[in-house]
Amino acid sequence: MRKRIEDEFTKLQISRQRKYQLRMQRDKRCTECGEPAVQGSRCLKHLVKARERQRRKRGLKRRYYGTLSYKLQGVTA
Ligand SMILES: [Zn+2]
Repeated sequence: MRKRIEDEFTKLQISRQRKYQLRMQRDKRCTECGEPAVQGSRCLKHLVKARERQRRKRGLKRRYYGTLSYKLQGVTA
C-alpha cells in the first residue's frame, strides 16, 4: 500500500481545499492554480483577477498603475 502524503497540515481539522491553500502558501504558489506566486499567494493571472474583482466590488473608477500587478502585466498609464 502506498504511504499517504503527510505533512504539518495532514492532521488539522480543516477542509481539503484549505489544506491545499495552506500548502500552496507555504511553497509560495498561487492558492488557486498552483503556479509560482508573484506576490502574496497568487500568480499574476489570479492577482489580476482578484484586483478586478475588488474594483467592481468597491466601484473604483481609477486604476492605480503603480500597483505591482499592472507593472507585471506591462500596463502603463
Ligand atoms: Zn493562479
